[in-house]
Amino acid sequence: MALTVVGSIAFDAVKTPFGERERMLGGAAVHFSLAASFFTEVRPVGPVGDDFGAEQFEVLEKRGIVTEDVERVAGGQSFFWRGRYEYDLNVAHTEETRLGVFAEFEPKLSAASQNADTLFLANIQPDLQRQVRAQCGAAKLSGLDSMNLWIETARDSLTAAIAEVDVLVVNDAEIRMLTEESNLARAARAVMAMGPRAVIAKQGEYGAALFTESGFFALPGLPLEDVRDPTGAGDSFAGGFFGYLDSCDDSFEEAELRRAMGYGTVLASFNVEEFGTERVSRLTREEIDSRFEELRAMTQFEGPAAS
Ligand code: AMP
Repeated sequence: MALTVVGSIAFDAVKTPFGERERMLGGAAVHFSLAASFFTEVRPVGPVGDDFGAEQFEVLEKRGIVTEDVERVAGGQSFFWRGRYEYDLNVAHTEETRLGVFAEFEPKLSAASQNADTLFLANIQPDLQRQVRAQCGAAKLSGLDSMNLWIETARDSLTAAIAEVDVLVVNDAEIRMLTEESNLARAARAVMAMGPRAVIAKQGEYGAALFTESGFFALPGLPLEDVRDPTGAGDSFAGGFFGYLDSCDDSFEEAELRRAMGYGTVLASFNVEEFGTERVSRLTREEIDSRFEELRAMTQFEGPAAS
């Protein structure tokens, strides 16, 4: 049981209507790893600059995340992202993206990371995702996330990367953009024709929908009263989803996929309650389990009473 993830390892500057942070630990692989660490051994892959110090490594290591494939590049700068959210937190604007050490990165994974059972290609340049995919031949389950920037600037390599994974996890708007199909069910079908056997459409605060060859399942987001920063919600969702599946014997069983949707939803809900990694880095397994039960209770309903 181990899960390898490649994706941005970053510093983020974020402004929401409820506060701001000028420089906090972030990145798709970081949010993903923290969420997945509640279920399995997680091995993030990627470079950081020497601005990434002991304090940042400690956040990961305290959760048992294995950082041997986080490469420190002397003299380099870590990936940096600046974003802001509107009053409607589903509307995000990227103000600045600096690839830093990711621009020159050539992944060389340790044997343990190459042999992981589960692989997640979190959001980053798709050629890098493919280089990592090529080194992880042992993975029984693989997933990929991406975003509008890479659909616009690297569509061909992104399409090739998608063809090589089992599950695509992207925002609903990005599925439409990728397939040029406005109907979500048809767009998901079009993605499955590209290679993946399942597609997850993330829908921000409204939840997430799972399309497979044989069916459909969806969960709403938890109705939270305190939401401060949605950054990393999608990555936390994916971390809960794939982290849980890595701990299962049969990750393609329908009941397991549905449970994994539940854990994804729960991890994302904690992530948005505070800025960046603040909430998830001090989360407990008991809190996860109790919110999972709340979500189950909330989403059950009975048929009409027999007359
Ligand atoms: P999410 O809110 O789940 O979409 O993910 C936000 C995280 O993705 C932030 O922590 C950013 O550091 C990271 N991020 C933003 N833009 C990019 C990009 N172009 N490539 C990779 N990671 C990014």
